[in-house]
Amino acid sequence: MKNILKNFLIVLFVILMVAGFISLYAQPEQKVEQISVAKLINEVNKEKVKEITVKGDKLEIILFSNEKQKAQKEGIESLSEMFKNFGVSPEKMGKVNIVVKDESGAGFWMNNLLPYLIPFILIGLFIFIMMRQVQGMNQKAMMFGRSKVKNVKGTGKKVTFKNVAGAEEAKEELFEIVDFLKDHKKYSDLGAKIPKGVLLLGAPGVGKTLLSRAVAGEANVPFFHISGSEFVEMFVGVGAARVRDLFSKAKKNAPSILFIDEIDAVGRRRGAGLGGSHDEREQTLNQILVEMDGFDQNDNVIVLAATNRPDVLDPALLRPGRFDRQVIIDLPDIVEREAILKVHSFKKPLEKNVSLKEVAERTPGFSGADLENLLNEAAILTVRHHKKKVEQQEILDSIERVLIGPERKSHILGPEEKKITAYHEAGHALVAKKLPRTDPVHKVSIISRGKAAGYTLKLPSEDRKFSSRSKFIDELAVLVGGYISEKINFGEVTTGATNDLQQATKLCKRMITEFGMSKKLPPRTYGEQEEMIFLGREIHEQRDYSEKTAEIIDSEIFELINNACATAEKIIKENKEKMEKIVKILLKKETIEREEFDSLFKKNKTEVDSNPNKKLSE
Ligand code: ADP
Ligand code: ZN
Repeated sequence: MKNILKNFLIVLFVILMVAGFISLYAQPEQKVEQISVAKLINEVNKEKVKEITVKGDKLEIILFSNEKQKAQKEGIESLSEMFKNFGVSPEKMGKVNIVVKDESGAGFWMNNLLPYLIPFILIGLFIFIMMRQVQGMNQKAMMFGRSKVKNVKGTGKKVTFKNVAGAEEAKEELFEIVDFLKDHKKYSDLGAKIPKGVLLLGAPGVGKTLLSRAVAGEANVPFFHISGSEFVEMFVGVGAARVRDLFSKAKKNAPSILFIDEIDAVGRRRGAGLGGSHDEREQTLNQILVEMDGFDQNDNVIVLAATNRPDVLDPALLRPGRFDRQVIIDLPDIVEREAILKVHSFKKPLEKNVSLKEVAERTPGFSGADLENLLNEAAILTVRHHKKKVEQQEILDSIERVLIGPERKSHILGPEEKKITAYHEAGHALVAKKLPRTDPVHKVSIISRGKAAGYTLKLPSEDRKFSSRSKFIDELAVLVGGYISEKINFGEVTTGATNDLQQATKLCKRMITEFGMSKKLPPRTYGEQEEMIFLGREIHEQRDYSEKTAEIIDSEIFELINNACATAEKIIKENKEKMEKIVKILLKKETIEREEFDSLFKKNKTEVDSNPNKKLSE
């Protein structure tokens, strides 16, 4: 609408410009001779003049020879008076046809005023356009108070619980909500209070939005969707206005589902930060609480909210009558992964050799969204390979794509860099192979993917809910394996190990301060992490221990890292010729798959068997 107006104004502008130029320069083309009054009198006396048109003090003269002329008289006196004064006889005057025209006619304006007016019109138009733009911005600012809520009922296809694979417990919990929305009287007759809010907890991509949509779909009610981050705007008070608007919309369409994604963006614990944006969040949160408290049992609106950070939520949100129900959605296990893959492979033609079970086995830790993405990548890869059906290999190849990023074939390493990368990755792989509690190596590669120059792909062989200290100790040795290998084989290290060291440091720190895995310190947590939104997002750690404890923490971290380095060094030095073998294959083929990698270690059977724990990891 605004565009049409804008285009219209531009066209108008151009037309006026053209018209202006024409009216400025068109007149001389008529070649009308300007004559003096004396000459006109002379012509009248000679009976040459056929007609005189009077427009104010302008005279347009047409001669009998059809020639046109113009003249100017003095403003005050009339034409006949002027002729009389000049002594023209009445007979001669009678020969001339005199026409008097109203000087306020359109033609007068067009001819006389327009050329002078055009500059003013243009300037006015310019100012007008500018004003409109500014006003448009103001209008936008005024619209801030409206929520950008999306009502998805009737748009697209309906989502039901059938579209959600796995997550049986969550579905069961939510089924009650569906039942309530469908038959609200059944519950109120028994005096049962139905929850106003349900909090869905789970990692990103596990299907929180999908489940909420499915609840609305099953109950056949409108679904209002908004993200917590959309509340937070530049101006204080906007968020609260949006909340009011949102709730009133939902109530108007009751029974309905109101879904607030990322509620942690507004629902953070209050009074923890600094700065203006914080006040804004607080107000928004307060408004949500007020609205939820104001809900009537008969309002028939149920608020579903999703977050992956329940720990940062304000306790006020979780009080009875607000989000008192919590549904936890875990990452899918192997059976659920297969089911999710099945749901999303529905529209993709798969070759007979595809085993979704194997794919599920190889994707521990993947969320529903990751799995959907995986199949999509596989389909794209299939098109690129000019095939009609997706094969197992495409799906397996896509796992790495999703995990680490796309291959960067153009990012070619020089021979020296290639060698360093090969030794680095071989270091990781070798240490991983030799330690009992690490995840099996699936692939070692020196093809760049994403940001990494090379990578060693290890995947857990089972879904794990928790890890042990000894597993972390082994993982640490694997992490520094690349660094140690570079050091041993080249005498110095490159920047390629930066990311490994960051990860190792983080893991050590968490082991000591969060997991209670220190040997010297009593089991408690050290430091409270708090996320603050002040000039950007920053993690602020509140120290709740003494300087002395801090020193012990540091020394514990040093010890963990030092031990990990020693372990890695020992393994790499003891297995020099295995390392050379891995590097040789890597330099030749760039990639080693799991089977080939394992076969390198097979001949030396006694060595593997001598390790009693080995079976645990495979
Ligand atoms: P969240 O809101 O938890 O971040 P979404 O609900 O947006 O995650 O999930 C993203 C996508 O992942 C969904 O659109 C869906 O296609 C897929 N997905 C996630 N979990 C499942 C599941 N259990 N069954 C089928 N698809 C799923
Ligand atoms: Zn590395």
